[in-house]
Amino acid sequence: MRKGIIERYRAYLPVSQQTPIVTLGEGETPLIEAPRLAQHIHPAMRLFLKYEGVNPTGSFKDRGMTLAISKALEAGSRAVICASTGNTSASAAAYSARAGIRCYVLLPHGKVALGKLTQAVIHGATILQIEGNFDEALQLVRTISEHYPITLVNSLNPYRAEGQKTAAFEICDELGDAPDYHAIPVGNARNIASYWQGYKEYHVQGKTTRLPKMLGFQAEGAAPFIVGHPIPNPETIATAIRIGNPAAWNEAWSAQRESGGLFECVSDEEILEAYRLLATSEGVFAEPACAAPIAGLIKLARAGYFTAPCTVTVTLTGHGLKDPDIALKACHYAPQTIPADYDAVVRALHLG
Ligand SMILES: *Cc1c(COP(=O)(O)O)cnc(C)c1O
Repeated sequence: MRKGIIERYRAYLPVSQQTPIVTLGEGETPLIEAPRLAQHIHPAMRLFLKYEGVNPTGSFKDRGMTLAISKALEAGSRAVICASTGNTSASAAAYSARAGIRCYVLLPHGKVALGKLTQAVIHGATILQIEGNFDEALQLVRTISEHYPITLVNSLNPYRAEGQKTAAFEICDELGDAPDYHAIPVGNARNIASYWQGYKEYHVQGKTTRLPKMLGFQAEGAAPFIVGHPIPNPETIATAIRIGNPAAWNEAWSAQRESGGLFECVSDEEILEAYRLLATSEGVFAEPACAAPIAGLIKLARAGYFTAPCTVTVTLTGHGLKDPDIALKACHYAPQTIPADYDAVVRALHLG
């Protein structure tokens, strides 16, 4: 049975025997080797995909949410609140339902993928769409959580980061050591900081012999780490990383600096191309934000960044089914309807 990340990595997490554990069996996600994609990117690269889309609510957010909700319950909280580009609210709503507490959600109007919105709805969250972007929604829920007895479960909640670092543990456990590079999409930037924290903790414990270089990728229209300051109106089709004012700004810069990694950005066109490439060459369906690091690796390889044989891990943060509209659009799907007739099918398939 899947125990979830708290039981699995209890020694590394701020829990006690008194902590009521709220879990849906998150973690233990597949690390999939991607030889075709690696060949496409750089012939001397071994590439592994950490497929976080198969967590219980379809994104890595569940790793942090199991801990955030468990600790909220331990502290006697009866309600939680979050702003979200979609996946945080999906996860918060599910874990709150599991815990039997209320969940309030603020979303940027019209900018949340249908699958994610549907999850918050079905799990019974109280949902408001605001006429503003994620950054404004986050500011609002921060203030509300200061004035009312409602626990903030955005990634400012320190337990979120603690839970999310367990993905780095799983990668090291499976590979037997840390990779040379770890590539990851960056929005609010907590996840890149959490991975770095996880890699460092395992290294200090002597579980690994090295530390990876952290490679953080953003969309061109939402790239505060590339321009060097927060931006007011972020835009990208990769809505999970449509963030202009990252909450974990300093921690993410530390991860980049300490690891000797970098931040890079890619265009929406490059994201969509990598998104299709991932699905067609490896059979892995991840949401558009996850294609940013794939596109980014392609860009870096073309610029001659990878010179020696290396092992690279990529976090695929969320499942592709979250956002089916984008998938159909990206593939220009136009169904061909024909008579239910043998000859017609053979002709239409160009078989005879
Ligand atoms: C939340 C999320 C991100 C961004 O993670 P941050 O910790 O905010 O940088 C990327 N991709 C997906 C699918 C997400 O849900």
